[in-house]
Amino acid sequence: MNPKKAYKYCFSCGHALVAQKGNVLACFSCSRHTYINPFPTNGVIIENKKGEILLVRRAFAPFRGWWDVPGGFIQPRESIERSIKREVKEELNITVSPKKLIGIYTDTYLFEGVINYTLCIIATADFVDGVITAADDASEWKFFSKTKLPFKRIAFKGVRKGLADYLSSTLLPNFSA
Ligand SMILES: [Zn+2]
Repeated sequence: MNPKKAYKYCFSCGHALVAQKGNVLACFSCSRHTYINPFPTNGVIIENKKGEILLVRRAFAPFRGWWDVPGGFIQPRESIERSIKREVKEELNITVSPKKLIGIYTDTYLFEGVINYTLCIIATADFVDGVITAADDASEWKFFSKTKLPFKRIAFKGVRKGLADYLSSTLLPNFSA
């Protein structure tokens, strides 16, 4: 369901919200406005020494059982770098060092019947230390070779686009090849 329809009551006073033009709902009791804005998320591309990419299997909806890069929602006051380290630690119990921004992708995240608009920041990170262990939102992990990524079973279009952009940048031949 579109959030403009799903958000029925004012977060401040509980009065019914009235949809306005654009991405805003108004409360005519306390005069507060509720905006429908995208939520920032991160997605992290981690390679092993063989150049394979680490994916996790999603333990929960949406897309339960599908592959994904490790990542999640950025918390209030958290830097992108810190959110990357936190999410990777939570899902895989390893420490990484954020490295390079690949791109920022608009996407959606269906949660409890409501469409949440997201803005996914895809970045690379280097492995620092730890033993990879799937936990939290991840039920399994696996390294995939760049030519065998399971694109048809990768959960989010923003992640697929980010991985494709990353691959096209790394697979370009250099002049000495
Ligand atoms: Zn109100």
